[in-house]
Amino acid sequence: MEKQNKAKLSLVIPCFNEEQAVPIFYEETTKVLATMECEYELLFVDDGSKDGTLDILTNLASKDDKVYYLSFSRNFGKESAIYAGFCNADGDYVAVMDADMQDPPALLPEMLKILQDGEYDSVATRRMDRKGEPPIRSWFARRFYQFINKVSDADVVDGARDFRMMKREMVDSIVGMDEYNRFSKGIFGWIGFRTYWLPYENVERVAGETKWSFWKLFKYAVGGIINFSEVPLNIASWFGVVMTFLSFVFLLFVIFRRVCFGDPVAGWASTICVIVFIGGIQLFCMGIMGQYIAKTYTESKHRPHYIISRTNKDGVGIIG
Ligand code: UDP
Ligand code: MG
Repeated sequence: MEKQNKAKLSLVIPCFNEEQAVPIFYEETTKVLATMECEYELLFVDDGSKDGTLDILTNLASKDDKVYYLSFSRNFGKESAIYAGFCNADGDYVAVMDADMQDPPALLPEMLKILQDGEYDSVATRRMDRKGEPPIRSWFARRFYQFINKVSDADVVDGARDFRMMKREMVDSIVGMDEYNRFSKGIFGWIGFRTYWLPYENVERVAGETKWSFWKLFKYAVGGIINFSEVPLNIASWFGVVMTFLSFVFLLFVIFRRVCFGDPVAGWASTICVIVFIGGIQLFCMGIMGQYIAKTYTESKHRPHYIISRTNKDGVGIIG
């Protein structure tokens, strides 16, 4: 049915300080798109870059009427950039790609073909290895994927990239999930639909530097767990139950000792240890609850996900 008119593919490309990568990306990707039998648009989302990214984008847009840009008023983060792209992409198929060529455009024709064959609603990619990544980062990443899959019903695949192509229905469902604290890998898994996994070998970034420090990634991972799982809260409650039970047993023991052996005043050190230990657990559990309350707080403010200060696309809302 999609064949009567040529289907349209929208590429959403979040860019944050990518002045070196964008020209290479444009060059390589349009080469691939030219070989494909579909209409297309390139929707660059400039996530508050401080370098010349926006100039490069306006320049490309003036030469190529398939190039659109949305430029944020500040850096809102990759998740907001992806969301803004989804809200404003009008293709029958929408794909997300990084600007740094780590998501090979050569895969696009195959991805589109899989979707047009009709059996799948999305084609996602995963890297088969983590070549070129610091070992500690890989180790933490692996533990994160194991943990989040145990504790949440969002199916998050190890090595999954954000690089994926989806049908319109799936994009609309994602746009419908307008939560403020976004974790795309979880959202993709949570909404369901039939996903085809395409493996490929890790490619290193073509220019510029990664925008993710270890700390930023760590916070992102914790956010992902808190957003898609209540298990940490349950752990906190279980800690409480177990500690209450243990203290009850301890109480019986103390009474028993008092009755049978009198009351030698001793055990200062052990008393302090127990108090400190329990205090630590209490603070830890309160911290977990605090994390959830903080998320509830940011959600309840209903702040926009992004603010657009410049764009060349018609009908784009300034805030969204
Ligand atoms: N990015 C963004 N906003 C940010 C950080 C990153 O839009 O705050 C974009 C960045 O320009 C790139 C993509 O997200 O196109 C992936 O970022 P990066 O390559 O730094 O991440 P990595 O591949 O190292 O995980
Ligand atoms: Mg990258």
